[in-house]
Amino acid sequence: MRVGSVASRPMARPSFRSPKGTRDILPGEAERQRALVNTFADSARKAGFGHVITPMFEELGVFKRLGESTDVVTKEMYDFVAKDNNRYALRPELTASVVRAFVQHRPQIPWKVWYEGPQFRYERPQAGRYRQFSQIGVEALGTDDPSLDADVIALGWNFYSQLGLNEVTLMVNSLGDPTCRPAYLEALTRYFETRRSQLSEQSQHTLLVNPLRVLDSKREQDQSIIDEAPVMVDHLSDETAEHFGGVRRLLDRMEIPYEISPRLVRGLDYYTRTTFEFASHALEGSQNAVGGGGRYDSLASDLGGPDTPGIGFALGVDRILLACDAEGVFDAPSSLVDVFLIDVTGGDEAAMISQALMVSGIACDRAYDARSMRAQFRAADKSGAAFAVIIGEDEVENGQATIRSLRGDDREQTTVATHLLTEELHKRLSTT
Ligand code: AMP
Repeated sequence: MRVGSVASRPMARPSFRSPKGTRDILPGEAERQRALVNTFADSARKAGFGHVITPMFEELGVFKRLGESTDVVTKEMYDFVAKDNNRYALRPELTASVVRAFVQHRPQIPWKVWYEGPQFRYERPQAGRYRQFSQIGVEALGTDDPSLDADVIALGWNFYSQLGLNEVTLMVNSLGDPTCRPAYLEALTRYFETRRSQLSEQSQHTLLVNPLRVLDSKREQDQSIIDEAPVMVDHLSDETAEHFGGVRRLLDRMEIPYEISPRLVRGLDYYTRTTFEFASHALEGSQNAVGGGGRYDSLASDLGGPDTPGIGFALGVDRILLACDAEGVFDAPSSLVDVFLIDVTGGDEAAMISQALMVSGIACDRAYDARSMRAQFRAADKSGAAFAVIIGEDEVENGQATIRSLRGDDREQTTVATHLLTEELHKRLSTT
């Protein structure tokens, strides 16, 4: 091959796409996501939770506490060695980061915080399962009062109803605590050992590391064995049973319907006592979890802090919106402007008026590139604005602008002095 012929060939245009398992969320859907987060933020704030923002990456060790036998740690972590030679990971969830922040800053307890943001897990992408997805959630540290468990669960439950979702169910369980869990783990291990050869290869391996995790297997082959396995709720100590009873009693009194789901173990290892999950029946079975959480009474001390009980939940924003689609609720908010400026004198006048209107709090838009009057009117109609402000040669000469109504049959128009325009528009907008 002649070298020269390579140099003269036109370079192929690059065609980049978002990485596998990630999505661009475009205007419309992104506004809907923002509205959902705002709704959640508002409820969390009203329930006494402050906003917390932690880094999107942490030292890998922070996430190792999620459990050496969990998929999140063994297979899905986006970890890397940075230029400082430290090993970090993009956060796969937020509880560990928030508890790390609690340990670092030692705020006054009870410490009640809410959060939102993207999480990263190297999962097999499919509908409702992404490698970057968004969560909203709360964490409350400093007390193990069952009343807090009920309040946290109620906050999640109320949020789904606030969105208009009717097909969400709540499952609760108790995973015991360090006083009663070892005896249960022994009973569970004994049971699985007798059926080891019938378990999937993966579950046989999991059994060696953490028998509890076998209960979380979704593999068909394991299901009948899991169905007959001993359950934690039958092995709770008196104290833990009483705690769980307290949570249930309060949920009953709050009239929050729930099912006891004795095999619910959740995907992370730090949970103790109360655990819960919200599922949407409007979504496909394997991807129907729209949120979940539980107590993690030893996580703060595991991360080097004082012994501090805690409880929280994380809700999956992407999946909740899929559930909203399926139930036909929580539409994207309309992002309409109030006023559209039509300037047939070149555009400078519109630029100045637009600046004044926006400073005064009126949402407005305009066309660019000195488009024709017709084209600008078409754009004004498409914008959904309530009023057009028309700026022609006559208006500029007389220091005026014309306001024209864009809604309804009566497209009446009035000409006003430019210095009175903002006031006049505010007056009209307050009555539309
Ligand atoms: P987890 O942190 O695993 O308890 O997950 C809490 C919620 O986050 C789940 O109930 C899902 O709604 C959502 N979620 C978890 N993993 C993903 C994912 N890969 N893609 C989309 N949503 C997810």
